[in-house]
Amino acid sequence: MGVEKIDHIGIAVMSIEEALPYYRDVLGLEYTGTEVVEEQKVRVAFLKIGESKIELLEPTSDDSPIAKFIEKRGGGIHHVAIRVSSIEDDIEKHHQGDVRLIDNEPRVGAHDMKIAFIHPKSTSGVLLELCQEPEKTH
Ligand code: ZN
Repeated sequence: MGVEKIDHIGIAVMSIEEALPYYRDVLGLEYTGTEVVEEQKVRVAFLKIGESKIELLEPTSDDSPIAKFIEKRGGGIHHVAIRVSSIEDDIEKHHQGDVRLIDNEPRVGAHDMKIAFIHPKSTSGVLLELCQEPEKTH
């Protein structure tokens, strides 16, 4: 598999506004902005940490998967994202390995990244996100 690095760690929060000061001001991470991902009913804020990022996820509605996660678990680490070079190939390999996927096809996430989630049942309990940078238009 063309695995490159840990791209980011997703942390579920009730409020980005309340969570951000710690990561930005106390840890001193570089905040690179917030965007809404309508399809997943979340607002996401990114902070750079070395080669990786921290992604704060705030629900935009009560039926958001993040709202449900916070209700059940009280927030915290929601997923770990792995950067891959070819997400279609990697999804295919997961199918061959009889792994349970949440997304059988890549969809579009924050920053227009192509993403696909792997079910925690197949990863020893961690929700894994595969992500690939959008093809660059030269
Ligand atoms: Zn993510």
